[in-house]
Amino acid sequence: MREIDSVAKLAGYFSRLPGVGKKTAGRYAYAVINMSREDACGFSDAIAEVKEKVRFCKTCGDFTDEEECVVCRTRDASVILVVKEPKDVLAIEKVREYQGVYHVLHGVLDPNNNVGPEDIRIKELLPRLDGVKEIIVATNPDLLGEATAMYIARLLKNFDVTVTRIAHGLPVGSEIEYADEMTLSRALSDRKEM
Ligand SMILES: [Zn+2]
Repeated sequence: MREIDSVAKLAGYFSRLPGVGKKTAGRYAYAVINMSREDACGFSDAIAEVKEKVRFCKTCGDFTDEEECVVCRTRDASVILVVKEPKDVLAIEKVREYQGVYHVLHGVLDPNNNVGPEDIRIKELLPRLDGVKEIIVATNPDLLGEATAMYIARLLKNFDVTVTRIAHGLPVGSEIEYADEMTLSRALSDRKEM
């Protein structure tokens, strides 16, 4: 079958999405052809809008379309849970047990790839410590995640704040993003002081 250029182009974009192979990308492209003109335009507008409006919360670094996200504005700011990336916030929010706020590092320390403390949002944590009782470090339980957690614990040693680490229940080398809700829930409640 001859490939239709515009369809192939659209399928090419779909195949960039996580978990979408060539075959699925093709099916998605044909699904768009079958959409009403209104739906298809709404779809493309939604993509453009996300790129235009979504930015990082000035406080926690999570995605938001306001200056400060709704979590920072409305939740208990005496507990801060530190994660590697915005996807991890989403995972922990699904558990529905956590009532505090977040701090998104946008990466972890990785000396082999020249990622140092200045390259991720570690120093942004310090001005947030006023009135904070606990910092829960929820970086992934892998080598870089552990090293980053240790660094943060050491950095916060001289501040009047308890630093805890979620670890139990999460298999070593796993990723927060893919953990099921039960496991995450247990990891959160079994956290240990660092
Ligand atoms: Zn925020």
